Order: sequence, then C-alpha cells, then structure tokens
Amino acid sequence: MKALEKSAPREGLWMVEAPVPEIAPDEVLIRVNTTGICGTDVHIWNWDDWAAHTVPTPMITGHEFAGEIVEIGRDVTGLRIGQRCSGEGHLIGTQSRQSRAGKFHLDPGTRGIGVNTQGAFAEYLALPAFNVVPLPDDIPDEIGAILDPLGNAVHTALSFDLLGEDVLITGAGPIGIMAAAVARHAGARNVVITDINEGRLELARHVVPTARAVNVATEELRDVIAKLGLSQGFDVGLEMSGSQQALDQMVEALVMGGKIALLGIPLGHSPVDWSRIVFKAITIKGVYGREMFETWYKMIAMLQNGLDVSRVITHRLAASEFEAGFAAMRSGQSGKVVLDWRG
Ligand code: ZN
Repeated sequence: MKALEKSAPREGLWMVEAPVPEIAPDEVLIRVNTTGICGTDVHIWNWDDWAAHTVPTPMITGHEFAGEIVEIGRDVTGLRIGQRCSGEGHLIGTQSRQSRAGKFHLDPGTRGIGVNTQGAFAEYLALPAFNVVPLPDDIPDEIGAILDPLGNAVHTALSFDLLGEDVLITGAGPIGIMAAAVARHAGARNVVITDINEGRLELARHVVPTARAVNVATEELRDVIAKLGLSQGFDVGLEMSGSQQALDQMVEALVMGGKIALLGIPLGHSPVDWSRIVFKAITIKGVYGREMFETWYKMIAMLQNGLDVSRVITHRLAASEFEAGFAAMRSGQSGKVVLDWRG
C-alpha cells in the first residue's frame, strides 16, 4: 500500500510502498478514504525538537482520517464490513485509575497513532475496534477526516457552560475557528476570535460570520468590549494559540470569576501573572485530546443539528499532492488541508 512516512530523522515526509498492516483479534482494518493534515504532522515534517524527541523512525504519520472497515478481528463485535468510520487516534490502556473510572482520555499511558505508532496517512490503517467511531450517512468523509481537530474544539468549547455567555477565543487557526462555530452553536451571546494574522481572521469571518474576528495588532480588546456593550468583559476564554501575549490579554479581558480553557501549547516555560488570576478568581482548565467518547457523541450530534464547519477546509488534494498540502499548511495561511487516498 501507499503510505506517507517519516523514513529518516530529517525534514520531510516520503510516499513509500508499505505492507498492509495485519490486525490483532481486537482490531479492524480500515481502508482510508480521506485524511486531514494536523499541526502535529507539520511538526513531524519539520523535524523540530519535539518531533525528534518523540517520533521513532520509520513512522507512517497522520491521525485524522475517515474510511471504511474492510476486515474485522475475530474478537470484535458490533462493527461490520463496509461500515464508514472515523476514529479516536489516542490508543489507551485499561488498567489506570482514570481508565477504570471511565475517563479514558486521561489515561497516562496514551499513545498516538501517527506519532508513537503507525498512523493513518496510508491506504490502510489497523485500529482497535474500541477506537472506531461509526459515521452516519449524512456526515461526508471530508468532515469525518477532521473530526479529530473538531473534537479538540468541541472538548475545549464545552468545558464550560456557554449558553448566553460572552466568549473570547484567542488564536484563529482551524481549531480556534471551529471552536467559534461551536460556541455560537452552543448558544453563546457574543463570540470574539482574535489573531494577528489577517489571513486567518478572514477565514474566521468566512467560516463563522456570526463571530467577530479581531486583529489585536490593530484593535484593542477593551475597545471591542466597549463596542459590544459588555459591562466588565468576557465570561469564558478559550486559549487556542499558545501565545503568552494572548493569554495575558485574555486574563485582562475576562470578568471577575471568569473561566479559561487552555488548548494552545506555549513554547517552553512561559511567565504567567498568577496574582492577577488569583485576584480575578479565574478558573483555568487544561484540555487534552477528546473525551472518549462523549466529545465524539456531542460533535456528531451537533453536526447533525446544523453545526457547519465545512468552510474551514481550504485545500482538497489527492494524497499524491501531499507536498503542496504541507506547503499550504507551513505557510500559516491555510485552513484545514485534506488529502484523498482513493484512486
Ligand atoms: Zn490532529
């Protein structure tokens, strides 16, 4: 089969011929139709410090996918050949306290497909049946292929009650933009999304016209708060950029007793004005991955109930055009890039 592999510990990925994976008794074999390129894959392409310390080579990369089950392990029940599916790319153990409490996404032994073990940028993927998420007929493959990052957005956005709240999102990458769409769908009153990259803000306006996209390089958040007529500021913040300035701006723009969910990953140690956070009585929650499988349930339900994130996909390419896809991702100007593995 064709597979996109980190074959050697240096920049780039290479399309190689690899054996079709053999499945264990508790796994299924999925024919991959569509995949999404993630920021994680760009780190692996670039072979930065994180990638060099995390990813063994050779490694078939990729973890965002949609496809169809073509083979079923002998211990698997409840799935059928021909079933369209996406799936959770975090492989978990069952023995930790967290897993035995049903909090699978908090299992400390989590391994990621395409990072720690063979991934989805290939014509076939072996996956534990536990991780399979069947796709309803009304969710197309290209949306199935971005459920992983949409799940990050949903997990973050639904960390706190948003009904009637004023929400600030810092970082207008694809996940921030999808979080804005989710916040609107979940009943937030005002949704403001900030960035300093005008191209990303334009995409945010295109995908979520009912959110206000603000370039904080040219506009002050306190002026936005005044224009919106908010008496104190935002009730809930969703930090999606990893930028320390963005977090500082968020703390400043929040109401007393405000809440922050953090998905963005700061580089290294990042100084934080903790006294400001204490005196404003702010609650902070770190968010990792997607809740298994409540996040998946909620996002599929929302997609079936009118949540539309399709315009966040800006590039649809054949898998053979992966170099152009990665170039678009590395430019910092793209939305989601999806690759088609059929044909
Ligand atoms: Zn991802």
